[in-house]
Amino acid sequence: MRSTLHKVFGFSGFRPNQEEIVRAILDGRDVFAVMPTGGGKSLCYQLPAVILEGTALILSPLIALMKDQVDGARANGIRAAYLNSTLPPFEQSEIAGQFRNGHLDLLYVAPERFAQEGFRQLLGESPVSLAVIDEAHCMSEWGHDFRPDYLTLSSISELLPDVPIAAFTATATHRVQADTLGKLGLRCPLVIRASFDRPNLTYEVLFKENGRQQLLELLGRHCGQAGIIYRTSRKSVNETAKMLQKKGIRALPYHAGLPDDERRRNQEAFIRDETDIIVATIAFGMGIDKPNIRFVIHADLPKSIEGYYQETGRAGRDGEPAHCTLLFSQGDIPKVRFFIDTIIDEQERGKALDALSKVVTFASSSVCRRKILLDHFGESYPKENCASCDICLGTKEMVDCTREAQMILSAIARTDQRFGATHIIDIVTGSRNRKLLELGHDRLKTYGVGKNKSKKFWRQLLDELLAQKLVVKAEGLYPTIYLLEKALPLLKSESEMEMQKPEERSSRAEPKT
Ligand code: ADP
Ligand code: ZN
Repeated sequence: MRSTLHKVFGFSGFRPNQEEIVRAILDGRDVFAVMPTGGGKSLCYQLPAVILEGTALILSPLIALMKDQVDGARANGIRAAYLNSTLPPFEQSEIAGQFRNGHLDLLYVAPERFAQEGFRQLLGESPVSLAVIDEAHCMSEWGHDFRPDYLTLSSISELLPDVPIAAFTATATHRVQADTLGKLGLRCPLVIRASFDRPNLTYEVLFKENGRQQLLELLGRHCGQAGIIYRTSRKSVNETAKMLQKKGIRALPYHAGLPDDERRRNQEAFIRDETDIIVATIAFGMGIDKPNIRFVIHADLPKSIEGYYQETGRAGRDGEPAHCTLLFSQGDIPKVRFFIDTIIDEQERGKALDALSKVVTFASSSVCRRKILLDHFGESYPKENCASCDICLGTKEMVDCTREAQMILSAIARTDQRFGATHIIDIVTGSRNRKLLELGHDRLKTYGVGKNKSKKFWRQLLDELLAQKLVVKAEGLYPTIYLLEKALPLLKSESEMEMQKPEERSSRAEPKT
């Protein structure tokens, strides 16, 4: 095993979990592994594929990336091929022939092929060493890219009863994991859940003041390095790419609205280091294996923590330090809200709102960024200080907010924990809102005590209370805020509280809940 690792792959050792997974597969055991992007999943199946007799079958949803994966494996001298609808028929039969003759270590196929009778017959004609299901979360309706085709794979263990099955995903939520495991029908599998911590990534959030100027300053820190700038809309991608080009910076745009060939050219230029920067919508990145991305900048607010984690996760796959910066303005919240409001399905809309509010909490609170990211995946970060986020590095200016926090907490307590953020803030700021007056909340002791501060300030403070887990918010469309135990000492003035110094510049639009 180790000598193949050195000789074929040129690696001096294993990364976390790789050895255990490889051993299980070599022993003929099923595996289910959740590993973050850059964790080194390919090696986990390519190494046993080289060692074991027969051909390993790799089921992968991304036809566009099969060629890259095959080219990568071939560069290491592995006998690899792919079979999909983009190949002309004569090549398909040539590859089928190579498989029959046992001349392949790896055969990549799309799941829909797996459903075809002809292909199932082919499988019976030559030994299969191992079946790999890449991006296994595509089987789960709870995941963000469910593919109905993938459900045909639930019969895989019946079809290949004597072959170990290894399923991999980088999508981390426990719900998706449980659902996918249930659908796969694996036989007493080794289940691996790698840590989602990416220790070589540094996280930072800056208040967005003058977006363009800040972007240029950030790029100044990364002269000549490869990086991705994410923006929300195609239009802003084009504008930012043009602006950078005018400044003599090597940047190219990428979004789904560009012609196919231009998109491909730009992506390849980035992979080959012919451009430094790719300015992109989130359409960019799925399956991009560029190891030396040194920074990822989000110039607009991401829609979810999950998305933010995946997008920043493309940086530093080589294990060297890389930087992730989010430019955040409360003024960006209404823009995302605008899109969420167009979602017709109530449940979906509720989910999108929850996701947004978690991103806002991530961005505006003073809790370690890494801790919040890992917390989202149900992983508790063991250290007090991660030493590689702006909060832990102490680069954020903090202010005491004990008194203001008490005002909010007491407004929540005095209204029996039955209201949402907007209403609580209305009480504290002394709003004349009709519902509030009807409820008689203008007679509360906390009514109007905080009217000298903006609603934006109160919203940030409430996010801080959420992040520090003094309060919690119910999920869904009408999220009520509840007090948690940690709120009591603060209410009784037995503890103090700090928050990030609030964003100075006032934005035109006030965010809604
Ligand atoms: P994933 O598919 O999990 O995102 P990859 O399989 O593409 O990750 O691996 C990410 C990077 O790590 C690749 O550049 C790969 O060459 C490298 N890599 C994987 N395993 C090792 C190892 N044991 N030692 C050094 N580099 C590794
Ligand atoms: Zn930290």
